[in-house]
Amino acid sequence: MAGLNETHDPKLRSWVESANAPDSDFPIQNLPFGIFRRKGSTEAFRAGVAIGDRIFDLPAAAAAGAFSGDAAKAATRCGNTTLNELMALGPKSWSALRAGLSSALREGSAKQSRLAGCLVAQSDAEYALPAHIGDYTDFYASIHHAIRVGALFRPDNPLLPNYKWVPIGYHGRSSSIRVSGQKFPRPVGQTKAPDAAAPSVGPSKRIDFELEIGAFVGAANELGRSVPLADAENHLFGLVVLNDWSARDIQAWEYQPLGPMLAKNFASTVSPWVVTLEALEPFRAAWTRPEGDPQPLPYLESAENRARGAFDMNLEVLIESEAMRSAGQEPKSLARSNLRYAYWTLAQMLTHHTSNGCNLQPGDLLGTGTQSGPTVEESGSMLELTLGGKQPIDLPGGEKRTFIDDGDTVIMRAWCQKPGYPRIGLGECAGTVLPSNT
Ligand code: MN
Repeated sequence: MAGLNETHDPKLRSWVESANAPDSDFPIQNLPFGIFRRKGSTEAFRAGVAIGDRIFDLPAAAAAGAFSGDAAKAATRCGNTTLNELMALGPKSWSALRAGLSSALREGSAKQSRLAGCLVAQSDAEYALPAHIGDYTDFYASIHHAIRVGALFRPDNPLLPNYKWVPIGYHGRSSSIRVSGQKFPRPVGQTKAPDAAAPSVGPSKRIDFELEIGAFVGAANELGRSVPLADAENHLFGLVVLNDWSARDIQAWEYQPLGPMLAKNFASTVSPWVVTLEALEPFRAAWTRPEGDPQPLPYLESAENRARGAFDMNLEVLIESEAMRSAGQEPKSLARSNLRYAYWTLAQMLTHHTSNGCNLQPGDLLGTGTQSGPTVEESGSMLELTLGGKQPIDLPGGEKRTFIDDGDTVIMRAWCQKPGYPRIGLGECAGTVLPSNT
């Protein structure tokens, strides 16, 4: 497993001046991958790396001689409109390309003059999904979310008995996943009020967000071959912010016995930049299981997973209503949480997913589930923040929200920060609910 190397040196600075600003999400220690083109152009979408407020155009950089050796080899897999081919290569190649990028972009690089033309301003860019996502699985790895939501749906039986043994998840739908900036109509569906004799059909009245991290699968595993925990992270390329939009009224009626379907598959939004696990190395954290809780079964247990399987990553969700936008008001923060609260690590989720021989493929997306923290204020959904819609939240300008209204934009951010190290950000995941199409 990767450790720290010269690309993590906190003293490294880039000749791209904006990357050295202390509040940048994308210092030279980050180097996340995405798919972009110039806004409004007919250029092909292509791979780029975020550096400060610029994008380093990977095919252009490769053509200009930015890389040599294994980095150059890996860069030849970045010429397509998705990152799937790069993801398929595995950690040695990802690491070689990262080292090449770090060397090319650092202050004093002899290549600066010939690479300066390979930069595009992020403000001039538009993004596509980082990968072709063949399959999407969403886990349920915050026990705080599971207990609070469970208490709303099943007051007498909030946490089902398998929760502490199985990394619970469901197979979602990838066709409706879009990159940040997604706008989608309020879904229509079948709902049933508790006191109604029969269900009715109409626009959902309870649109909600779920504050999650998404993990892109890297190298595939063969059908029938499980991935042991010690090898799990070699199959994970990197992380994005994920909003798993949910229609709570549709969900409450449809979810038993087989889990969510139409309540979840109408839209999901991801941030454009995939931050590699290698970039997050300085923010690893110990993973613990409370004493008195069942300890993991052997296939989900290792000393390494306990020592460093978690990530100390701040998460935040904000809202901006149409009225706030018109009035020029800043988005309002609804909650903050942290990925380290997760009941299972990403490695445990991936290993569990393949434990029956299920084959994961490059570009598959694994959601962590709503990452709520121990207190209600750290909730990653409106369902929890408003206590099931009973306690509205005040917005600036006098509006109130229990769930998400038409015209509301929900913005999610994630970042890692600690003294003595540059901030490693995942950027932003924004999405807007439009009026129903019917
Ligand atoms: Mn979810």
